[in-house]
Amino acid sequence: MSSPPPLAGGTEGPGALRPLLDTVLDALRDGATARGGPLPAGGPHTVTTRLRALAGDPLPDHGTGPDTALRTLVHALAEGAADPAEPLCAAHLHCPPLALATAADLAASALNPSMDSWDQAPAASALEALVTDALAHEVYGDTPGTDRPRHPAALVTTGGTEANQLALLLAREAHAGGGPVQLVTGAGAHHSLPRAAWLLGLPEPVTVPAPTGTLDPAALDEALTDLPGPKLVAATAGTTDAGLIDPLDEIADLCDRHGARLHIDAAYGAGLLFSPTRRTHLTGLDRAATVTLDLHKLGWQPVAAGLLAVRDTTDLDALTHQADYLNADDDTEAGLPDLLGRSLRTTRRPDILKIAVTLKALGRTGLGALVDQVCDQAQEFADTIDAHPGFDLYDTPTLSTVLFRPHGAPDAHIAHIRRTLLTQGRAVLGRAHLDGKLWLKATLLNPHTQSGDLAQLLKLVEGSTPR
Ligand SMILES: *Cc1c(COP(=O)(O)O)cnc(C)c1O
Repeated sequence: MSSPPPLAGGTEGPGALRPLLDTVLDALRDGATARGGPLPAGGPHTVTTRLRALAGDPLPDHGTGPDTALRTLVHALAEGAADPAEPLCAAHLHCPPLALATAADLAASALNPSMDSWDQAPAASALEALVTDALAHEVYGDTPGTDRPRHPAALVTTGGTEANQLALLLAREAHAGGGPVQLVTGAGAHHSLPRAAWLLGLPEPVTVPAPTGTLDPAALDEALTDLPGPKLVAATAGTTDAGLIDPLDEIADLCDRHGARLHIDAAYGAGLLFSPTRRTHLTGLDRAATVTLDLHKLGWQPVAAGLLAVRDTTDLDALTHQADYLNADDDTEAGLPDLLGRSLRTTRRPDILKIAVTLKALGRTGLGALVDQVCDQAQEFADTIDAHPGFDLYDTPTLSTVLFRPHGAPDAHIAHIRRTLLTQGRAVLGRAHLDGKLWLKATLLNPHTQSGDLAQLLKLVEGSTPR
């Protein structure tokens, strides 16, 4: 029998990886060149047919060997990608990852620490504790507790969805015995919040109107006055559709007044923490019991890089869990860190490594500059649209989302423009229904995008507008 394929780790791993990485990097470059734009042209049928032709038999009796498999499949994926590194790929909160973060992620794959027990991740678990503490401090600062010093903490999640689920779970457990927790959100809240309520067996959420795109405090006040029992208000710092930030401080006051717990979903907006000029938009963030962050949005990480921050480590006690093979009492007493209470998952990737490398490499200033770059760009793009007689602008952007529509176009035309550009492989724009109208959505997350790219985007939209 021939010897088994080489491994990624150990002293031999890097030597085995190097030629394979050359193959991967060449295939990435050639695939992107073959695509020649933000996404492949032709739509789903064409892309699927091409992918199937390139990929061939997915499970052959006899394998092709690593070189062919890597070259073929990486090329196919790159050629058929909607690549957020392309300036005109700007629909979703789908960021182009930084090369340095992706390089760090390779090391995570090579070493493969699993974050469910210390004996699988000795340094990785220490790094996770160090970096999540630093990020939790970034959210909560050093605000001392009333009776004792606080130690903010954060858990690593697969994204905002999992972080929101954990936030609802912690709220449910904090009120255990006090009756079911009633979730109250603004109309612009993320769909993962009502879904989490459903998952956790909580009552149907109450939705408070958000007539201007953000949660209306007067309507929230009224809703909280009417509701009996424990309440969790979920505010949003950076709505997915429009990038708007709810009046966090005012909402926190109302929560205090009505004895409601506050969660802030800052999956998009938390990036502003790094911007010295825009950080003030997040005033009140530290008053939430839990905060969702998502560094695969305004943090330029490859997926996944979510976090849930809590005000004090003890707020996570509800997640305490035991499995003898991972955290036996005598091991924990002997000083082996207990990691099971840091997630609902068991086996877990060390997503903290790429985050740690990025924070260290760029520092607060470097990350803040990236955040400011894309937000400034959105402002400039919005100004251009506002000054253009052929387009309507939804609102001045708070973050990096710009909603616009050709003046007077019916909704059906908006949807048609988006699909035409997708099918032609020319641009990836999103859509959002607000103010009773359908809007085109550009979510600007690429710090390399130039004004000329966005001017070209407007031309493409004009050219695809039915007359
Ligand atoms: C993106 C987003 C989420 C969900 O995050 P995932 O990482 O996609 O799970 C939650 N809330 C808001 C406000 C978001 O923008």
